[in-house]
Amino acid sequence: MRSNLAGPRLLLRRLREVMAEPINAQERLDKIVVLIAANVVAEVCSVYILRADGVLELYATEGLNREAVHQASLRVGQGLVGLIAAEARPLNLPNARAHPAFAYLPETGEEAYNSFLGVPILRAGRTLGVLVVQNKSHRTYYEDEVEALQTTAMVIAEMVAAGELEAIAKPGTGLDLSRPFRFSAVGLADGVGLGHVVLHEPRVVVTNLIAEDTDHETGRLEGAIDRLRLSIDSLLASGDFAQSGEHRDVLEAYRMFAYDRGWIRKIEEAIRNGLTAEAAVEKVQSDMRARMLRQTDPYLRERLHDLDDLAHRLIRELMGRQHSGGAGSLPQDAIIVARNMGAAELLDYDRDRIRGVVLEEGGPTSHVTIVARALGIPAVGQVQDIVSLADAGDAIIVDGGTGEVHLRPASDVQDAYAEKVRFRARRQAQFRRLRNKPSVTKDGVEIALQMNAGLLVDLPHLSESGAVGVGLFRTELQFMVASSFPRLSDQQAQYTQVLDAADGKPVTFRSLDIGGDKVLPYLRSIQEENPAMGWRALRLGLDRPGLLRTQVRALLRAAAGRELKLMFPMVSEVSEFHRAKELVERELKHARRHGHDVPDSIRLGVMIEVPSLLFQLEELFQVVDFASIGSNDLFQFFCAVDRGNTRVADRYDTLGPGFLRALKLIVDVAGRHHVPVTLCGEIAGKPLEAMALIGIGYRSLSMSPASLGPVKAMLRSLDAGRLSARLLPRLDHGHPDHEIRAFLRRFAEEQDVAL
Ligand code: PEP
Ligand code: MG
Repeated sequence: MRSNLAGPRLLLRRLREVMAEPINAQERLDKIVVLIAANVVAEVCSVYILRADGVLELYATEGLNREAVHQASLRVGQGLVGLIAAEARPLNLPNARAHPAFAYLPETGEEAYNSFLGVPILRAGRTLGVLVVQNKSHRTYYEDEVEALQTTAMVIAEMVAAGELEAIAKPGTGLDLSRPFRFSAVGLADGVGLGHVVLHEPRVVVTNLIAEDTDHETGRLEGAIDRLRLSIDSLLASGDFAQSGEHRDVLEAYRMFAYDRGWIRKIEEAIRNGLTAEAAVEKVQSDMRARMLRQTDPYLRERLHDLDDLAHRLIRELMGRQHSGGAGSLPQDAIIVARNMGAAELLDYDRDRIRGVVLEEGGPTSHVTIVARALGIPAVGQVQDIVSLADAGDAIIVDGGTGEVHLRPASDVQDAYAEKVRFRARRQAQFRRLRNKPSVTKDGVEIALQMNAGLLVDLPHLSESGAVGVGLFRTELQFMVASSFPRLSDQQAQYTQVLDAADGKPVTFRSLDIGGDKVLPYLRSIQEENPAMGWRALRLGLDRPGLLRTQVRALLRAAAGRELKLMFPMVSEVSEFHRAKELVERELKHARRHGHDVPDSIRLGVMIEVPSLLFQLEELFQVVDFASIGSNDLFQFFCAVDRGNTRVADRYDTLGPGFLRALKLIVDVAGRHHVPVTLCGEIAGKPLEAMALIGIGYRSLSMSPASLGPVKAMLRSLDAGRLSARLLPRLDHGHPDHEIRAFLRRFAEEQDVAL
């Protein structure tokens, strides 16, 4: 039903004039409330603005007692105004005083008014304040009046966002828009970064809110929606999701919304009320985002996120594709904030300017995490709503060690973190000084410390960290960051560069470990119930020998005239190693037959990461040249805990007697067969765990470059013989004390081991 409203379009046009007047913020707000009251035919119109302390303060009023401006206030959740702010939803009441939430503010003199209409002032889904009209009569406001008020609220939201109101805020009462936020989330890559927000998908800022010509705007909307539908349809039809980095189900959701009449009708209505097409999309998007922020059901949140993405695309379609964010506009201390991003996208940024990454999604083993770790960029994931709450340029702190993120931190928090960064830098400097010191325990036991790598960017660490070689080169990373399958020549070039950069230090390549959670966007993946235990790694390599053969060929060529060390992941039976070895030998013959140079020596090994191998160790060590323990997977399968599932991944202790006995068994049997073993899982890089590994007999460890310093500091202060003498009896069956971790901590403390 329509009211006798003077016309929302007329109101907007007047508002535009007021916005353009060279007056101060208070005068502008005062004029706006007069305009709205006249237009909606209301006796009262008031604006409440949300402060950083959670209080809604009366900023302007027509009709209520003017003395109450900047005096009257309500908390979020208190009274009708507080309720609207808390729920981010309009409230339309013929008899406000009968509402259970009604709270009377005597200083305003509002007792004379019965009907009440209030709407949240929203921007990007955040509530910045509340706009209210009131009448003496008992009336229900018409739908188009609610719409008109919401549209007007958008204009006020822009005033708040532009910082205009800061000037008239009472001293010491900042606005909510600049409120600090602290998030406790999941640390993905260690390190502390202080900097400023860069939105990975920059929000398109709609500045032209008010339409000149409504028909023209409706036409623009129709055109943009047609183009949007076409692009989604053709993406779905082509089946080429790799190119856009999107999955079919997300695109299906997009398509559903793009054809949703309800959504489009709401946008059309906002245009009829006088907004430009892009402002209308933004208005509907903002209402929807407010719902999203309140929504706790993960499925619905996900769908609302999809709709939010789609609205974004539509705005871009309407405004032309503006690209900000390129290297030119990147600040010196950029912290990238995104819902999620691919590894290759992170690599596209200028590494020297990135201080951190904050993701709404992202798991500990996701590819972007692996790359962030490789680059030494602190990263935190699972940070709810960060994209909505952060604005480009906001100050932000990322602590990848604790999983904390501070958005717009107070100065004391900034100071504390700046100190933490200085402290870490001092420690790093100490570790660097250890670089050329021997890696030998106090009692003279030599420990070979190697590093894990997977990208060329890792290689400079080899000399910086003092590692004696690369103990694990994860070849799949090159495949994961590429947009299409790397050809033989690409692979050969990469391996050659790796060996050149290693400059004679040994590099242990691992053949492709794809499948499971390591998905290649361009390789058609099959749905599996249990991908970690599915068709992955060497299983895939043996079933699709073309893949493995190409890789082996590239490695043989790259290592021509030098040593090639190659190991195979996820071996479950010794026979798999035999088959892989045969493949290498065939390739070697092929190379010789075709006159290619070949490596001087070839050493082939396995990763021990499936528990079944523990019961084939005698046979295994008779045939392999070396072995490396992938403790991440071995522990995952040993304890049946999904390494990527944060709910259970930390449930059992890697230093429990069961797992330590298993690790000791491997090193003991290998020793009898004189086969070198290294341990290259995450535990090798944790000082306390590394100490335990040395205690049970490991003499070679491979870890991320950042861990080398701390582990070396630990072992140089350790008496390995004394530790073994005290630790090994505890691993005897029947020993009463199972608390190995606590024992190790006590030992380190007593013996002054640097942890
Ligand atoms: C492991 O499983 O411990 C390992 C080193 O390999 P990845 O982490 O690549 O599976
Ligand atoms: Mg593994």
